[in-house]
Amino acid sequence: MFDPLEETSTAIAWISFPSLPPNFFVEEAIFSLAAAVGKPLQVDLATKNQTRPSCARVKVEVDLLSEFPKRINVGLRRQSGKICEKWIKIKYDYVPKYCQSCKIQGHNEQQCYIIHPELYPKEGGESGGKKNKEEELHDGDAIQKKKSAEHNDNKDQEQFKAQRQKNGAGWRRKVK
Ligand SMILES: [Zn+2]
Repeated sequence: MFDPLEETSTAIAWISFPSLPPNFFVEEAIFSLAAAVGKPLQVDLATKNQTRPSCARVKVEVDLLSEFPKRINVGLRRQSGKICEKWIKIKYDYVPKYCQSCKIQGHNEQQCYIIHPELYPKEGGESGGKKNKEEELHDGDAIQKKKSAEHNDNKDQEQFKAQRQKNGAGWRRKVK
């Protein structure tokens, strides 16, 4: 049954290859490496113009339910003709979170208030004073808690989703 509140697990992610060998620094090679993670869409400008030789960055369409490899094994042909293996490290710069229980993007099972009701922030009560202090200290966390508090209620969830789409990303990531 189609549930309009369910979100697809397909998302856009940014990955990069730090310390990529120079001979891999072409779009086709980067795309073929990125295909191990998902569907490669485009390299970033610095990669395209080769202005940042230390690191190639690429946008990929991923299924958030799939496994994300940390490195890829490739065969490099030496001048002697000998093939040697090399591990290419993959760095995940931005991958949205997905909750398989709620079937929405923006948080994962570990952060889910449906699975872990004990994580749900209590309104008022004895812990009120302490909570306010924490909110001051960790503003990013406070926003995240407030937003996720809405996600128990279906009506609010619609608003939450609309808001989130407007904002572009999931719950606000901490800015350091
Ligand atoms: Zn959830």
